[in-house]
Amino acid sequence: MAKIQMKTPLVEMDGDEMTRVLWKGIKDELLLPFVDLKTEYYDLGLPERDRTADQVTIDSANATKKYGVAVKCATITPNVQRMSEYNLHEMWKSPNGTIRAMLDGTVFRAPILVDGISPVVKNWKAPITIARHAYGDIYKATEMRVPKGKAELVFTDENGKETREPIYEFECDGVVSGQYNKDSSIASFARACFNFALTTHQDLWFATKDTIAKKYDGEFKAIFQTIYDSEYKSAFDEAGIEYFYTLIDDAVARVIRSEGGYIWACKNYDGDVMSDMVSTAFGSLAMMTSVLVSPDGKFEYEAAHGTVTRHYYKYLQGEKTSTNPMATIFAWTGALRKRAELDALPDLAAFSDKLEKACIATIESGTMTKDLASLWEKQTPAVVTSEQFLTAIRATFEQMA
Ligand code: NAP
Ligand code: MG
Repeated sequence: MAKIQMKTPLVEMDGDEMTRVLWKGIKDELLLPFVDLKTEYYDLGLPERDRTADQVTIDSANATKKYGVAVKCATITPNVQRMSEYNLHEMWKSPNGTIRAMLDGTVFRAPILVDGISPVVKNWKAPITIARHAYGDIYKATEMRVPKGKAELVFTDENGKETREPIYEFECDGVVSGQYNKDSSIASFARACFNFALTTHQDLWFATKDTIAKKYDGEFKAIFQTIYDSEYKSAFDEAGIEYFYTLIDDAVARVIRSEGGYIWACKNYDGDVMSDMVSTAFGSLAMMTSVLVSPDGKFEYEAAHGTVTRHYYKYLQGEKTSTNPMATIFAWTGALRKRAELDALPDLAAFSDKLEKACIATIESGTMTKDLASLWEKQTPAVVTSEQFLTAIRATFEQMA
């Protein structure tokens, strides 16, 4: 059978540890036999990042800007222990952080649902996609521990004019924090969310605490509303989808009572916390996909989990591990489908759909990795190694019409 052809190369970012092993397995077993894979390869594995003084990460982000679609394997973010383990020249920054900053993107995370593994929240029927604004707020805040005394917020404009607001007159020791965000970043976040809602045909929810943070969160609310009214309302009406704003506490209550099937846009901290709650309630981090979308429509697909170090150390001991490759496979199918859409390649789009169906059908038939076995509610599952799981998916794929 002739292999499916591609036009524009996909930016391929290889990674570390167990996910690097899965990466090769996925390509060899599920992609290369069927697709004449055209990629521009960047090795973001830690040794190569160290060798190039992290230039390879920057190059890969620039390639994503050039070509528009990337697929990324999980990578190690070095810490003190990794410095000695890999004999690093420097404690290189998180590649995800670097890529996110260069693309000014918003991260959308959505679970993969299978029949036989129910969400902990029993009324959730469809995925809930969390869109996290990955810029500013407490993540870039300046903090102080202070003794007795007066804390003030001071702003000096370009002409040197000062504006002061009292924060608190401390009668004892305490803490102070100064946080910020930029209108331009909030606007990018809003557009990324509205665009993603349109392309995935889902309602968009957004929530802040604007009743308390009247200026700070009030600005988020106002920017979203202005952009919605002036740029997206008619497209939303036409698509039959809705933009819904509410307070964060009301949103949390509504999310729990909902059936799912929408995008939940979250401020940075809300997204950090809520994405862990939502992913856990849907089952497993290994079943959570993630895509970074820039305001000018560049896409980087990845798994939401890390390099699964614990399994990798066992693998190095010669053990065959049962690491779940689902999120990494879906990163590939997501990226290939987006490439297909941009290059008008229906065969490639159909391949991506079919491979995802084959993955889900394999699990639903009772064959799965160890992490899913404890969540499985049907007949006794066949717990397999990663390798056997990939072989099973391929067999299912080849049997499908
Ligand atoms: P992790 O790699 O996500 O793994 C944490 C645990 O979750 C694993 O030990 C495993 O539990 C379970 N798990 C995660 N993915 C799984 C999968 N596909 N199949 C089966 N089980 C899975 O997080 P970590 O151990 O905290 O971090 C490891 C490395 O990944 C770190 O160096 C970190 O910097 C990096 N990281 C990278 C990214 C990224 O590139 N996007 C994200 C997060 C972390 P059991 O051990 O109980 O089986
Ligand atoms: Mg978190």
